[in-house]
Amino acid sequence: ESVIVAIDGPSGTGKSSTSKAVAAKLGLSYLDTGAQYRAITWWMLSNGVDPDDADAVASAAGKPAIVSGTDPSRPTITVDGLDAAGPIRTPEVTAKVSAVSAVPEVRTRITDLQRSIAAGAPGGIVVEGRDIGTTVLPDADLKIFLTASPEARAARRSGELKGADVAATRELLVRRDAADSSRKTSPLAKAADAVEVDTTELTLDQVIECVVTLVEE
Ligand code: C5P
Repeated sequence: ESVIVAIDGPSGTGKSSTSKAVAAKLGLSYLDTGAQYRAITWWMLSNGVDPDDADAVASAAGKPAIVSGTDPSRPTITVDGLDAAGPIRTPEVTAKVSAVSAVPEVRTRITDLQRSIAAGAPGGIVVEGRDIGTTVLPDADLKIFLTASPEARAARRSGELKGADVAATRELLVRRDAADSSRKTSPLAKAADAVEVDTTELTLDQVIECVVTLVEE
């Protein structure tokens, strides 16, 4: 019996930490779909494709070979065989990932990849992203939508970035959410049948416990 869990929400809500921990606790695979969009964005930047030129991005969307390792204790991502784990977290990639991921050809390509990874995961998988419950895996067994106040999200994110300015981080987060929520193809959205968990006042352990309980119900 295979279980599919979709965890969506904006950044800074604890999505990645929660998803990895839930997968590890339940013996499931784990897929970070944001890492895949970051990887294709890194490839565009490294190969001279202007991320703001939607036609150029669409033409190149099929070129990079993106491979995700789905062990929650050591997730990996490679692009054309190169380790992309470091480069996909740079501010340059973060600044351009919303533009690249708004291109329909990019979404089709990455969505197909996500569905085949989910279908091939023995025992099941936790998939985290923005459109997993609505578009990628609408038949998921459990859908979670994580939220938190912009202040809490900016504080967490600047903590991860080792003391980056909270106000500046908040500004970038809010701008990226607005872009992700307003794009035409598969915007960031809560599925009608998702369980919303507001993590503002919760510790990471409490969020993990909450999701594990929902899976086991
Ligand atoms: O989760 P993370 O912050 O790494 O995601 C990076 C970006 O990838 C998001 O801001 C969004 O533009 C894009 N993304 C997406 N659909 C997903 C996951 C991420 O468009 N399922």
